[in-house]
Amino acid sequence: MTEREETERSVQMSRTTSLMGEYADKKFIRKKDRRKNPGRTAGRNAVLCLGLGALLFAGIPVQAAQETYTNTDFVMDTVVSETLYTFGEDITPEIGSLLREIEETYLSWTDGDSEVSKINQAQGEPVRISETLAGYLQEILKLSEDSGGAFDPTMGKVIRLWDIGGGNAGIPDEGELRSLLAETGYENLILDGDEAALQSGSLDLGAVGKGIGCDAVMEFLEEQEGVSGMLTNLGGSSVMVYGEKPDGSPWRVAVRDPRDDESGYLGALTLKGGEFLSTSGDYEKYFIEDGKRYHHILDPETGYPAWSGLTSVTVVCGSGLLADGLSTACFVLGREDALPLLEKYGAEAVFVDEDHNVYLTDGMKERFELLKNTYTIQETAG
Ligand code: ADP
Ligand code: MG
Repeated sequence: MTEREETERSVQMSRTTSLMGEYADKKFIRKKDRRKNPGRTAGRNAVLCLGLGALLFAGIPVQAAQETYTNTDFVMDTVVSETLYTFGEDITPEIGSLLREIEETYLSWTDGDSEVSKINQAQGEPVRISETLAGYLQEILKLSEDSGGAFDPTMGKVIRLWDIGGGNAGIPDEGELRSLLAETGYENLILDGDEAALQSGSLDLGAVGKGIGCDAVMEFLEEQEGVSGMLTNLGGSSVMVYGEKPDGSPWRVAVRDPRDDESGYLGALTLKGGEFLSTSGDYEKYFIEDGKRYHHILDPETGYPAWSGLTSVTVVCGSGLLADGLSTACFVLGREDALPLLEKYGAEAVFVDEDHNVYLTDGMKERFELLKNTYTIQETAG
């Protein structure tokens, strides 16, 4: 695949929400067990291989060829694409099932059996949850607090009321919006060990679902044999890269022009194995009324779409959940208030605003390449 094709693949657009269950939990445990003694496992494998080689080929070493596999799936409401470089089997078809399972087990808002749904149905009563979901919720609550409530996982009913991107999208009745908004606030989610209780509001983890999916893919890859590198792209808005490309060149991911659906990449940025990227923008799901753009990222203070002057925020860091959560939070906060939050999490970002300015955090400067002359990179992000 040429670099251009790869960048194009990496930018396929669409939508996602979330994803893994007992099966996945078991895999995580297996992976951890294996990690405890990697030397021994490798040693055993080497002995096995040598033995086999000697037997079959009279001492000539057997070397598997490195293959490239690509795959496309539709999960979490979005197009998921993968490029895999491996000396082993094609495991790309397993990625879709993994994501599907995480969504159904933990995150789905619509599937009544998911853990998030059970918390919502319990009407304030504590619900026993898995260690996995408890871990996600802990990180989410911390991000909510650190962002001063700009990230708010309890806005499910307000999100449904707007239904942006759904069949009933429209400006809601002011009174109804106010009363549903009064029920929201991350403080209403009480986490106590393996129990969660939502005192009011409704849990919606749509803003971190794809990122959680990317984290799960990374963990899955770490336990696979023979994988040398992989890029997984969920709808163009959440991307993870693992390992290295065969030629050692950096992974390159496209950033969309928020105002050009047709042809355009605003730029491209490089990623290292183990990094995650997430973009939040006002172009993913929206409607326009009286010249105003009503999009799907809501300001928890007002209950209306966040109009911070930004059209997109792309965040890069070492966690899928955090990249996804931070991009949403930073979009709500606006560029200046977002900077201390990014710094706190050691994350880098690209901000794009309505006046076609591009702002880069310091660590982003050498990674980002602008591909459109209709935009201008400003000297400092602050
Ligand atoms: P996308 O999922 O399109 O990539 P985001 O990650 O920014 O974009 O998530 C947007 C989704 O997050 C919305 O569709 C909604 O479900 C939810 N959401 C909207 N506003 C907020 C907010 N302030 N805090 C947390 N979640 C939000
Ligand atoms: Mg997000």
